[in-house]
Amino acid sequence: MTNRILIIEDEEKIARFIELELIHEGYEVEKCGDGRTGLELAEGGDFSLVLLDIMLPGLNGLEVLRRLRKNSDVPVIMLTARDAVMDKVAGLDQGADDYITKPFAIEELLARIRLVLRRRSYHVHEAPADAPADMLRCGELTLSESRHEVKYAGNEIELTGREFDLLNTLLINKNIVLSRDRLLGKVWGYDYMGETNVVDVYIRYLRSK
Ligand code: CA
Repeated sequence: MTNRILIIEDEEKIARFIELELIHEGYEVEKCGDGRTGLELAEGGDFSLVLLDIMLPGLNGLEVLRRLRKNSDVPVIMLTARDAVMDKVAGLDQGADDYITKPFAIEELLARIRLVLRRRSYHVHEAPADAPADMLRCGELTLSESRHEVKYAGNEIELTGREFDLLNTLLINKNIVLSRDRLLGKVWGYDYMGETNVVDVYIRYLRSK
């Protein structure tokens, strides 16, 4: 199946350049130069991936992403201006899959597109047929509470009870910022009297596993 990519970018030269490269790589491409139309296309079209510029007429890219994420999990790569660190953080917080800083080498963009599409095809095609109904996912990470089972890229990871509860809480609240206090309340219980840095310690354990 051919991957369809939507380019939302108002700088016609850049959009056209990306379009030609993507077509050359065998993708189907649609492009659009303003945020409002881009959002409609992204919501309505059957796209495998969206390239989304931030500085756009109509709606800016972050607003397009925020609205899009209410009813679509289509992969999104943000195109950001150099040094716009806040835009990158905001984009990732709002559910962008990746970002690339302009000006970029086309090879880098193509590599990121392949990576995001591969991650996505793992979700779609490689979910085991016997996957439990309660399975939570984030990238290649899966967690099933009923089976008390965590896997990364299909390989099981052994977690302690507390680590499991912490990861479960994070996955249930995916894309929501949780403070240390809230995590303490949810995972350790509100009567927990110890240090809040216990959260940092367990996050570290989780990351290393
Ligand atoms: Ca722009």
